[in-house]
Amino acid sequence: AHTKRVAVLGASGGIGQPLSLLLKLSPLISDLSLYDIQHTKGVGADLSHIETRAKVKAYVGKDELADALKGMDLVVIPAGVPRKPGMTRDDLFNTNATIVADLVTACAKNCPRAVIAIIANPVNSTVPIAAEVMKAHNVYDEKKIVGVTTLDVVRASTFVAEAKGLDPTRVFVPVIGGHSGNTIIPLLSQVSPPVSFSQQELTTLTNRIQNAGTEVVEAKAGAGSATLSMAHAGARFSFSVLEALNGKEGVVECGYISSQETEFKYFATPLLFGRNGVEKSMGVGKLSEFETKLIEKAKKELNGNIQNGVEFAKQYLAK
Ligand code: ADP
Repeated sequence: AHTKRVAVLGASGGIGQPLSLLLKLSPLISDLSLYDIQHTKGVGADLSHIETRAKVKAYVGKDELADALKGMDLVVIPAGVPRKPGMTRDDLFNTNATIVADLVTACAKNCPRAVIAIIANPVNSTVPIAAEVMKAHNVYDEKKIVGVTTLDVVRASTFVAEAKGLDPTRVFVPVIGGHSGNTIIPLLSQVSPPVSFSQQELTTLTNRIQNAGTEVVEAKAGAGSATLSMAHAGARFSFSVLEALNGKEGVVECGYISSQETEFKYFATPLLFGRNGVEKSMGVGKLSEFETKLIEKAKKELNGNIQNGVEFAKQYLAK
């Protein structure tokens, strides 16, 4: 059937709600399964009144997680906790890492063949965690576990279009590497349509793209981080995956996956999607000297993030 079943885990959150709304509007989806540890019944009732095809079902609490996942083709995971006063970065890492490991364990048991799109941060570490959990359950398929980096592409395309007076819907900027700060590497030498930049523009745009999340956190002044643009990015990524699962050819989105492309075990590149998830990486193309230096600068952080994820998974799985 050309309609697919999609689950959102963390559907009641700042990202989860607008993401679920956007998915509800799509004719590509026959069933939309909303899961959270709180408030999903309300979100589900609300969305279920919209006159589109997707049938909405709401599941709340761990007892309903298995039912939320059965038969799913795509599972999108924005679940997590935002950093609260007094919490360290490590506290946040441990909390979100455990949430992702628990949710992916449930996917391994209930929908092992689904594509899993991970939004929960830190993506550089949560994707390796998800992979290790799937491996431990003997259902790992590296073509189906993808970290969503689409927001970096969305932002890069918007900022480049702004700077050059272009239509943002027609600009594509490949973004490689990881999904935090220095590890976000926009390839401004490979923008489509081709654009040229001065060294000053390259530096300014790259910094803005790498720190765009902070721009939103500061503007929201204590009321959270990017949710609406992230919901859009998550929906755009999901629609691309679903179209490819349905047999559309030539579907490309960037994403962070297990990779043999570079010296890094996980790396974001443009990916060609197909009927089984990621068909292949499109590679990093020909990098400029500036971009090669950015990768050099990202090395320590990205490798550390990957290592943290793998170590966490080892301990989690040993329990
Ligand atoms: P964000 O802005 O990143 O969306 P929120 O805190 O608004 O952050 O949303 C995160 C959502 O994830 C909340 O609705 C929260 O209830 C949900 N959540 C937290 N832990 C779990 C879990 N173990 N399973 C599913 N959802 C969870």
